[in-house]
Amino acid sequence: MKVIAVDVFVLKTPLDQPFAFSQGWVHQRAATLVRVQTDNGLTGWGEAFAQGLEPPEISAAVIKHALTPILMDRDALDINVLWHDMYHRTRDYGRKGSVLAGISAIDIALWDLAGHFYSQPVYQLLGGAFRKNIQPYATGFYRIKGQGEQVRLAEEAVQHCEAGFKAMKIKLGFGIDDDIAVMEAIGRALGADHGCELMVDTNHAYGRAEAEKLGHVLEEHNVRWYEEPLVAEDIEGYRELRRALSVPIAAGENEHSIYGFSRLLDVIDVAQPDVGSCGGITAARDITAMAQSKGVMVNPHVWGSAIAQAASLQLIAALPVTNHSLYATQPILEYDRSSHPFRQDLVAAPWVLHEGMIKVPDGPGLGVDVRMDTIERYQVASQ
Ligand code: MG
Repeated sequence: MKVIAVDVFVLKTPLDQPFAFSQGWVHQRAATLVRVQTDNGLTGWGEAFAQGLEPPEISAAVIKHALTPILMDRDALDINVLWHDMYHRTRDYGRKGSVLAGISAIDIALWDLAGHFYSQPVYQLLGGAFRKNIQPYATGFYRIKGQGEQVRLAEEAVQHCEAGFKAMKIKLGFGIDDDIAVMEAIGRALGADHGCELMVDTNHAYGRAEAEKLGHVLEEHNVRWYEEPLVAEDIEGYRELRRALSVPIAAGENEHSIYGFSRLLDVIDVAQPDVGSCGGITAARDITAMAQSKGVMVNPHVWGSAIAQAASLQLIAALPVTNHSLYATQPILEYDRSSHPFRQDLVAAPWVLHEGMIKVPDGPGLGVDVRMDTIERYQVASQ
């Protein structure tokens, strides 16, 4: 099954209402999608994660100029061989960021292709599903003004609960005092017996001292994890923070490959590889094995389109728990609840919440039917 074409699609659409996370204002939705075609008529889809401030054209250029020449005429089933070829041949200018996101997109597409070739879902190719229904957690709480929005954010928390979510992630990192006001307002709005799990994400807004100060506040709110308290480079800071706090520390959406995670996994409790940027399903599988050897739980991050979500669902289905018990904590799916046409409209059957859970697609590959009409509507020139 030889690769005969690699097509890249860059999608963009402006946001009606720009929003902020701690690192800046997001004005558009963007996605970098890839389609790999083979000589036996099969097609695989993948996605390079483009975070809110990242130009999607960078990974598109990587795919077109650096990766496509490696892939052409190669056997699409040689997924591991191709991953190492792509990584080694981009190493001296890659290893992280948009280059790894480009490799991730291709890798996801190759797993999708393999699934179609063998008529099996990706989770089956990974060794089977530990779970076929996955609990989503609501991601939201973006700012539309900046600071001082605790009343609106508390209302949003109640809306997530009413929509059936049993877990939600609160965006902080807008100043410690503002963060505390938000946590207290949400706590009051949900009440003492809300039964919802809370996570917190500051997107590495603070240095060590402030991150620790906020962490002690979070200990009072019983959060499931404290995400990206520090920049990924500050390994020693993570080590100190983890010792100082009782709240579990999570990170990984801005780390890549086994090489990056090998250091991070020594200083965190929850690893969050993003399948669209860590190096794809192949790297996520290897990172998971490493995490297990170090006793670290894996809970993938995902903020991409429906294709990245589909890849994450397949990955989470096949993800072993690190610390087994009868009632072990299970991985949950990040589910960004803000408006996003590249999710609802990109696949023929978008996910629906059923009794608080999302069913893993069991069709071949990623189990999605990608809509070209949506791609054509939002596609922009990628050069
Ligand atoms: Mg995050």
